[in-house]
Amino acid sequence: QQRSHYYMLTSEMISKLLKPRKKFAHKGDHGRALIMSGSYGKMGAAVLCARAALRTGIGLLTMYIPTCGYDIIQSTVPEAMAIPDEGDHFLTSYTDLENYDAVGVGPGIGKEQETVYSLMQSIQTYKKPMVIDADGLNIISEHGEMLEILPKNTIITPHPKEFERLVGKWSDDFEKLALQKDFARKHDIIVVLKGAHTSVALPSGDIFFNSTGNPGMASGGSGDVLTGMITSLLGQGYIPEEAAKIGVFMHGLAADLAAEVIGEIGMVATDITDFIPEAYQQFK
Ligand code: AMP
Ligand code: MG
Repeated sequence: QQRSHYYMLTSEMISKLLKPRKKFAHKGDHGRALIMSGSYGKMGAAVLCARAALRTGIGLLTMYIPTCGYDIIQSTVPEAMAIPDEGDHFLTSYTDLENYDAVGVGPGIGKEQETVYSLMQSIQTYKKPMVIDADGLNIISEHGEMLEILPKNTIITPHPKEFERLVGKWSDDFEKLALQKDFARKHDIIVVLKGAHTSVALPSGDIFFNSTGNPGMASGGSGDVLTGMITSLLGQGYIPEEAAKIGVFMHGLAADLAAEVIGEIGMVATDITDFIPEAYQQFK
């Protein structure tokens, strides 16, 4: 086995990865992304994810949502297109993902049996790396066979509890890190393990620790913002490793800039999305 190397994600590193917009760019140049998300009572996750994807620069965004979420998405995120699933309260059906440059799956989808079907059928034929988060990961934990069909370099973004459901318990942070590394290697995926110092584990075994972020982010919806950001970056043509690093760093930076203005206590996930443009302004 190759040995691992450990790095910090720094602004120098990120500034080398960021690609400027071209003068004659049009929306088609900045990618098409689709996000499968939301269910009755959890449409907020879809809204946050959509706004974050747009603020991170995706050219065209389509939200695949249950019918009950159609008016919600269309009125709260007018920049996004929406395709309603046949299911009213949750996703139940197959959707064709082939024409999208990037696909994000999971925020707020729940774990209904029909949603498992919707997810399995839809991602089965998709061959490009995806982003999988939240209930998407909880579904995978209960259907281990899905790990085998994930395209190489797919990015998963568990928080510790979701990661525990995937790999089992650990006794300390060293063991957690070893589990993260092994999981990334074994399944050829990128594991973004979220927390105060989010770590990004690559299939090579290399690990990158994030240097941005603050406890103001410890409230509902923060993770959905990250999923939208990484999906957006993948859609814009960043390779998965870059999309994960940039997404994690900029997500924390946006929250740090928000904290300077409004503090940590009153910060909500929407504030993180609202400060993504300022985070990009730091790299002008
Ligand atoms: P989730 O639990 O899916 O909503 O994700 C929470 C997000 O907020 C992740 O990106 C975490 O890295 C971030 N986060 C949560 N708590 C903290 C903290 N204390 N310091 C920095 N970032 C945090
Ligand atoms: Mg989450």
